[in-house]
Amino acid sequence: MSTTQRILPKGVSEADFDAALVRFREILGADSVLTESDQLAAYSKIMMAGDDADYIPSAALLPTTTEQVQEIVRTCNQYKVPIWTISTGKNLGYGSAAPGETGQVMLDLHRMNRILDVDPDVCTALLEPGVTYQQLYDYIKEHDLKLWLDPPAPSAIAGPVGNTLDRGVGYTPYGEHFMFQCGMEVVLANGEVIRTGMGGIENSSSWQVFKWGYGPYIDGLFTQSNYGIVTKMGLWLMPEPPAYRPFIIQYQDPEDIEEIVDVLRPLRIAQIIPNAVVIVHTLWDAGTHVVRKDYYEGSDSIPREAIERIKADEGIGEWNVYAALYGTPEQIEVNWKIVEQAFGASGKAKIMHGEEAEKRGGGFEYRSALMKGDMNLQEFGLYNWRGGGGSMWFAPVSQAKGSETKDQTELAQQILGKYGFDYVAEYIVGWRDMHHVIDLLYNRQDPEETQRAHDCFAELIDEFAKRGYGLYRTNTEFMEQVAGTFGEPLREVHKTLKNALDPNGILSPGKSGIRQ
Ligand SMILES: Cc1cc2nc3c(=O)[nH]c(=O)nc-3n(C[C@H](O)[C@H](O)[C@H](O)COP(=O)(O)OP(=O)(O)OC[C@H]3O[C@@H](n4cnc5c(N)ncnc54)[C@H](O)[C@@H]3O)c2cc1C
Repeated sequence: MSTTQRILPKGVSEADFDAALVRFREILGADSVLTESDQLAAYSKIMMAGDDADYIPSAALLPTTTEQVQEIVRTCNQYKVPIWTISTGKNLGYGSAAPGETGQVMLDLHRMNRILDVDPDVCTALLEPGVTYQQLYDYIKEHDLKLWLDPPAPSAIAGPVGNTLDRGVGYTPYGEHFMFQCGMEVVLANGEVIRTGMGGIENSSSWQVFKWGYGPYIDGLFTQSNYGIVTKMGLWLMPEPPAYRPFIIQYQDPEDIEEIVDVLRPLRIAQIIPNAVVIVHTLWDAGTHVVRKDYYEGSDSIPREAIERIKADEGIGEWNVYAALYGTPEQIEVNWKIVEQAFGASGKAKIMHGEEAEKRGGGFEYRSALMKGDMNLQEFGLYNWRGGGGSMWFAPVSQAKGSETKDQTELAQQILGKYGFDYVAEYIVGWRDMHHVIDLLYNRQDPEETQRAHDCFAELIDEFAKRGYGLYRTNTEFMEQVAGTFGEPLREVHKTLKNALDPNGILSPGKSGIRQ
């Protein structure tokens, strides 16, 4: 039993909260309404540089059906109780499973975990929010279906619905997850249920194959937003290709990033290389299995001399490109020649596949698995690099142009260096865009370092925005600031929609900087 002080949702009286809890217990059963601090501990852990006290839930609700979710939001409207929705709650580095602010009630959908349909002919799935990548993977194997998933790096433990709703990314040709989403069921703040796309037509067979439906397309409104609770989602799965060739290309000089991106862009746009390619910096590649203190003990950012030693010891490049070819063996041979020719032109690249790449060690094994949709947790090794459990993903978007990488890399290194942090980073080349993903790793046990990480992240946001680079996604501590960088008129539109769809402001207040 908890002895700590009771936490109430903002603006809700104790009597109203008690009345709401009574109703929640009627809807869900007492076991599915958590209020004790030990039961809620898992919902209070954060990795971002915020104050723990700002992210404590007042309760957690564990529904198993859409009807229960409808009754929950009706009750929340009656008592003005705010809820924060998670699906599998593994948004690590972006807020984890904690609420957006203290006092919100967690709506944890992980028990809604039915795989409702997998169609091997049109390669689609219809899932509830609690389904994990591992669960779907196991289902596909058990039924001997020739389908591939596209997991993010924390794969097995996370789920397709939550990841897609936060517009996450993976590493196969289906890497931009929202692009491969098709049809949703959504509980609105007033308790009504809608189905998007073709889902509004009773007995429609095309809900999971035709994204657009009729009238304005609204699925996007339910991503990175607080306009509804998604209780079912359709997604497209990739047919297993007859052949697959993962490869790595290494470059040794910091400035080579420009050449890499300029060579890669036409190959990506033309789909010669069809997957979401990563260009991984030394410290990320090594950081998944090497510990910083073996190379440098200082509290300032790691010096170049140590980076060069890591490169030599590990046999890795300054930039390590991981990509793959898919198709028939004949198609792969043709495309491989094009890749070799394009990257071989300057004589700087070391291009490897097969045994040569496997022997190289580094990240090749786990990257090869990810690029074919297999599960592994190798990337969690990054948390041993500096230790102390602090992680914030800083992820600005740019064009896939070499000139933008030079500008971004230098700016990031300069700001991280000013605060004593390391540039642990990769670029993910989508189609024409790039996500520059930097893991700001710091020791969360040290209050001074945590404050420094906070200041550093805030400066990164502002300085990148000044140069025209916005973030694709951010953690709950900085949602307000990031929303500000996209301009007040857009914020006003978001607010107008919020007021129309959720007049009592009960759904995830503050998500993406959106409130009433
Ligand atoms: C080492 C490491 C590597 C990572 N690599 C990647 C990567 O490669 N790609 C990537 O995308 N991410 C990556 N991440 C970040 C993160 O862990 C994943 O994106 C993860 O998939 C998100 O967790 P989830 O699927 O459990 O989402 P959840 O936490 O369930 O959901 C994410 C957010 O979406 C919203 N949401 C969830 N469900 C609903 C719903 N039903 N209705 C309305 N809103 C909802 C909520 O705001 C929630 O906070 C990485 C993290 C770590 C630690």
